[in-house]
Amino acid sequence: MIEEFIPDSGTYVKDGIIYSKVVGRALMDLLNKRVSVYPIISGATVPKVSTTVLGQVGNAQSDNVLVRIFKIGPKKLSGAFTGILHISDVEERYVDSMNDVCKPGDIIRAKVISEKNQIYHLSTVDKNLGAVYAFCSRCGNLLEQKRHEMHCPKCGNIEKRKTAVDYGKEEI
Ligand SMILES: [Zn+2]
Repeated sequence: MIEEFIPDSGTYVKDGIIYSKVVGRALMDLLNKRVSVYPIISGATVPKVSTTVLGQVGNAQSDNVLVRIFKIGPKKLSGAFTGILHISDVEERYVDSMNDVCKPGDIIRAKVISEKNQIYHLSTVDKNLGAVYAFCSRCGNLLEQKRHEMHCPKCGNIEKRKTAVDYGKEEI
């Protein structure tokens, strides 16, 4: 392929194969024998190891939750990526139940720690990571943080979460 096509913008060459640097469509210019890749979204962003993401907690199991990632760093997405937060990556200390970490509907900030097989494994170990908005599992109201507990101002329910230090302040 390298003999016939000249790599163009958005591409690089390794061992004679033209690779795309960005997520996008390869455009083969048969007349000029050039390959260009046009990003689908300008500056297309995919989760990468060590980047911080924001997502909403979806399906929850006893030892993991799925997270619908909608923001990578400062960039908002349409919500195409799913991450997984396993109980062993929540805090440095042992965590008994995912129920004390986050619940479906919560908004969490997490760090991507691995992207093996296109599955984004997340961590909330740092103090700036964890729930930034959590909702009462009884009535859906936004929970308020009081010391180490989460209080529902509407129904009086008390729950637990692993919160980020700036809980309730993130702009979404
Ligand atoms: Zn409530």
